[in-house]
Amino acid sequence: MVSRVIPVDPFDLVIFGGTGDLARRKILPGLFRRFCAGQMPREARIIGAARTELDASGYRDVVAEAIGEFIGHHDYTKDQLTDFLSHLDYVPIDALGETGWKELQELMAGSPHIEAYYFSVGPRLFGDLAERLQRWGMADSECRIVVEKPFGRDLATARELNQTLATYFNEDQIYRIDHYLGKETVQNLMAVRFGNMLFEPLWNAQYVDHIQITVAETVGVGGRAEYYDKAGAMRDMVQNHLMQLLCLIAMEPPARFDPDAVRDEKLKVIRALDPVKPHHLVRGQYGAEPGNEEEMPDYRTAVDNPRSRTESFVALKTHISNWRWASTPFYLRTGKRMAARSSEITVVFKDTPHSIFAEDAGRHRNVLSIQLQPNEGITLGVTIKEPGPGGMRLIDVPLDMTFAEALGEEGAEQVDAYERLIMDVIRGNQTLFMRGDEVEAAWAWTDPIISGWEARNDVPKPYDSGSEGPTDATELMRRDSREWRKVSP
Ligand code: NAP
Repeated sequence: MVSRVIPVDPFDLVIFGGTGDLARRKILPGLFRRFCAGQMPREARIIGAARTELDASGYRDVVAEAIGEFIGHHDYTKDQLTDFLSHLDYVPIDALGETGWKELQELMAGSPHIEAYYFSVGPRLFGDLAERLQRWGMADSECRIVVEKPFGRDLATARELNQTLATYFNEDQIYRIDHYLGKETVQNLMAVRFGNMLFEPLWNAQYVDHIQITVAETVGVGGRAEYYDKAGAMRDMVQNHLMQLLCLIAMEPPARFDPDAVRDEKLKVIRALDPVKPHHLVRGQYGAEPGNEEEMPDYRTAVDNPRSRTESFVALKTHISNWRWASTPFYLRTGKRMAARSSEITVVFKDTPHSIFAEDAGRHRNVLSIQLQPNEGITLGVTIKEPGPGGMRLIDVPLDMTFAEALGEEGAEQVDAYERLIMDVIRGNQTLFMRGDEVEAAWAWTDPIISGWEARNDVPKPYDSGSEGPTDATELMRRDSREWRKVSP
């Protein structure tokens, strides 16, 4: 089966922050892959914009180097790269000053193409960029802006940013990006849930024992120390990525697969979330890797703040107060420097109401596991008889629902989340982007959790680098006679 590549309409994409880490690592290599796949039309233009003084040729060198670094050389030809680079231009610009705006305006003037402006810069520049785009006549009602995370650091700042952007753009022009939503498996989760009769009748508190969502990283704070120490895992991961995954797994079937119908249902989930009780919350901070303290220092050394109380790990339990999920707990966990890089949503179904098999046959549960990182895939644990003459003994086998064989090589092609999302921006499809009210609702749930631990003067629990997190997180589950899925390499 061959996956279809449908070219998007001609576009002009301006990348503010076009020399930055995100642009070099994700956005430009992603666009290059779409170009090689034939999805980017020949008339398309990509315009880098940042303060660094470069001309178009200098920028092409920067982009060629980034593509060389982040895409394997064997994956493209020299001609493809040269061809792609010819679509690139560059404008030295200052988001906070007047430099470069006239030049950008001239470049964009009279273009018949779809216009998109990617704000791949620090969040303090978002408002200034929006204001200058309007002042220089580029914010017409047809253009789109793509806004990176973090979107605010609490409800008040998110609301302020929403209001600022709304001064210059309509909501249907604003694409708030959460790259987790661009993953193939996240969309497959919706296809599996809403395209099959099989799962939906079981998708509720009557049949689901609990749901767990884990986003575990092996990296520490790295080069983001200054930002991270002010943010922490709750703001950096839970409020956006984990919350979005929770919405998709728990939402009601939307009436149609269209942006507002899907986002209305996600919003209802966030608004139905219970507040998190202090004893259902664990915060942690990683320690140094024993024997490798220089390269893998503890959190406080890494952020150069010996008294830091910022969490690099959060685990929590919450409920969704609606008919579908009233008694099903949701356990969320995320951390840095954990045993493995692994993002997974796990739906653990209840035991059968009565077992007809002998006790020593073993008792098993169906577990649906949706893996997002490092590999994407969906598996369903099914109980079967252990093959052979050993009598009726039960074992679990994973049913691979990624169907790689059925889809063949083309079907198995993994498109990076950023590629998919940028193509959606050009297509004008906001389904996989967060709406302003969703972001605000997520902060409205997160803020009291943060202010609660600040008021309690809570100190994060230490945990070993390369572990599953603090022992208190294990206890959080054990108290309910449940267990986290192992974070395994
Ligand atoms: P970065 O490496 O620091 O790049 C920032 C970019 O902004 C550079 O191109 C910089 O170029 C430009 N810039 C800074 N001040 C400017 C100004 N006054 N006017 C015009 N351009 C200016 O940051 P990044 O890691 O790429 O992150 C960009 C955004 O994406 C941030 O909001 C970040 O939170 C978000 N994000 C990043 C990642 C990631 O993996 N990197 C992941 C998720 C979200 P000049 O210095 O030449 O001006």
